[in-house]
Amino acid sequence: MDEIRKIWLHNPKMPLENYNKLFEGKQIEAVILGNDINKIHRAVDEGLRTFVCLHSFSAKPHFDNEEYLCRDIEGNSHIWFGSPCPNKAPVLERFISNIEKAASIDGVEGVFLDGCRFASPCSSEKAEAFLTCFCSDCCKKSEDLGFDMDIIKRDVKELYNLITGTDSNIAVEIKYIRSREDLYCVLPGLKEWIDFRTACVNGFLELARDTVKRCSEDKKLCMYSFFPAISPAVGQRYAEMREYVDIFSPMLYRRYDRPSGPACMDHEISRLVKLLSGNPYISPTEAIQIVQAITGLSLEGFNNAEDIKQGLKTVHVYEEAKRVIDEVDGRKVVPIIMADDPDIPGHFYQFSKLGLDTVNLF
Ligand SMILES: [Zn+2]
Repeated sequence: MDEIRKIWLHNPKMPLENYNKLFEGKQIEAVILGNDINKIHRAVDEGLRTFVCLHSFSAKPHFDNEEYLCRDIEGNSHIWFGSPCPNKAPVLERFISNIEKAASIDGVEGVFLDGCRFASPCSSEKAEAFLTCFCSDCCKKSEDLGFDMDIIKRDVKELYNLITGTDSNIAVEIKYIRSREDLYCVLPGLKEWIDFRTACVNGFLELARDTVKRCSEDKKLCMYSFFPAISPAVGQRYAEMREYVDIFSPMLYRRYDRPSGPACMDHEISRLVKLLSGNPYISPTEAIQIVQAITGLSLEGFNNAEDIKQGLKTVHVYEEAKRVIDEVDGRKVVPIIMADDPDIPGHFYQFSKLGLDTVNLF
């Protein structure tokens, strides 16, 4: 029942004829390329739908200077996923000008944003990088938007104490949560923190959409987005992002066999379980139950963080793709999966059940 008919390729590593052979009977329809003008022109000339992918917020010099970096609750600076704080005016100006340049290239159909978010659990080796940003610009912006920074700081600090094992009281409470709402009852500042992140990301996307559409109404704003189980934590809420984004490519990397894997489902979920079970009052089984309650992912059959890091199942990919489709209500969804996943047909089968006909390969 494999109805996948079209393949998109993110930065193809082989000549196209190899992909044609590999996916015989399917159409290689589109490529998503970096900002390499020769490759872009060649793809357009070959008649492929051509998109340009941008690293939304890059900490390349001079944006790796201290003044641009995210701050944790203690004021220490962090680079996460090669990014500085997205709320710095010069960082946002660069974001807009990069989008403008890419969208104005003749023949380019649209721009894919990567990393248009805040830090996730796996965006840095250090968990503290996830629990950001408390720089002066973010603090001011959150107050301006009506968020209560004192409560946010208090509860993000509680979360930090929880995962570093210095707080036993919160560990006892957190064991009994059965949903994300339960977590917000215990730590209401976390909801404010996530709402602030979401408001910022929606603002970035609004700017990005305006920029793309200024080049041409036909050009599209597209996005590499987080899997829904934890996308709210990085500031990405599909039901809100759908207002700005034409094409979503949710990153559904269920099995990434490398030491570090930001945005990969197995790595991110495994890291959450590991952080929680690092608290002496929380067992690995309890940690899995908590993560299951917060994320809505079904994790039966997994015993600990290491287990999860061996890879999730294609049924998890199905569940997450379904959540995206339900939440974006009519916007185009082209999930992206790892090109070297050992079970590509299994993914195609799961996506077919959802009525999808196109898959993007990383
Ligand atoms: Zn900041």
